Amino acid sequence: MTTVTKAGGAPAPTGPGGFLSVRDLQVTFSTEDGPVRAVDGLSFDVDRGRTLGIVGESGSGKSVTNLTVLGLHDPLFTTIDGEIVLDGKELVTATEKELEQLRGNRVAMIFQDPLTALSPFYTIGRQIAEPYMKHTGASKKAAWERAVEMLGKVGIPNPAERARDYPHQFSGGMRQRAMIAMALVCDPDLLIADEPTTALDVTVQAQILDLLKDLQREFGTAIVFITHDLGVIADMADDIMVMYAGRAVERGTVDEVLRAPRHPYTWGLLNSMPRLDSDLATPLEPIPGTPPSLLTPPSGCRFHPRCAFRDRVGGDRCVTESPALAPGRSSACHLGAEQKRTIFAEEIRPRLG
Ligand code: SF4
Repeated sequence: MTTVTKAGGAPAPTGPGGFLSVRDLQVTFSTEDGPVRAVDGLSFDVDRGRTLGIVGESGSGKSVTNLTVLGLHDPLFTTIDGEIVLDGKELVTATEKELEQLRGNRVAMIFQDPLTALSPFYTIGRQIAEPYMKHTGASKKAAWERAVEMLGKVGIPNPAERARDYPHQFSGGMRQRAMIAMALVCDPDLLIADEPTTALDVTVQAQILDLLKDLQREFGTAIVFITHDLGVIADMADDIMVMYAGRAVERGTVDEVLRAPRHPYTWGLLNSMPRLDSDLATPLEPIPGTPPSLLTPPSGCRFHPRCAFRDRVGGDRCVTESPALAPGRSSACHLGAEQKRTIFAEEIRPRLG
């Protein structure tokens, strides 16, 4: 597994695999137009108490990966190959009953839109208490008390009173907090957060991120945090995996990837990010082109149609040969290590300010 060190923090655990260990995952959808390989050969580990940030544009496969980990894909139209092992338990071959037992108990998910997770027909308190009763066998009274306690933990004022409210009586930020309370009520070992703060204003976003960090410290939860926002990743994650067109293209610690990124796609993501300290007159530089269709992905390096550096590799290698991602700190790109360092130092970093 990747041996990682958080900047200024303790060395990450090492070993044969993380608490969540994904190996050579391939997710293929059957569509009317043919098979779509949405995730292609993905491997990663996440340990307890650590956060892996998965970053990439829409369609990069980051959300599909995590829905697959949770067993929330449509089995009729999806083929999964590879291994997903959670605390020694293989999930790809698990039955729906086993997966249901895991979800909400050992593994929980926070979505971008809390209304997809909260029912409008039941009180917030009941929706937090029910999974707790189901997974722990607690009495109704104990589960209600637990729901109130969790609402307090996520910063809802007057939790005993507000537990009796319905979702429409909560603001957007409060609903997000309620969903986090619901996700964490059974002290899950793994939390998957898919763009959990994208729809919120920056102040509430910062509060929610702080809350997740506090809760992780308290419960030792492993977190997979999916976002397209590198600023959020810098704040939240220990490790980063950058995804493009269904594949991982770069990974390392947050410090390694954000301070010295090695992949042209990661350079593009950093370049297109608004910065607080930049001159407002300086235009952002979006990555040219659009992500490819996964029905007919580009040959060789999938990023080659959008890459400004492919001519520096020589020959047509970028078009014909798929670059591999090695274990550990790595980037899947044919440029040489010295070339990547020089291009970043001389051409990319000056533009980032
Ligand atoms: Fe660009 Fe070639 Fe590297 Fe792909 S392998 S990112 S096309 S330089």
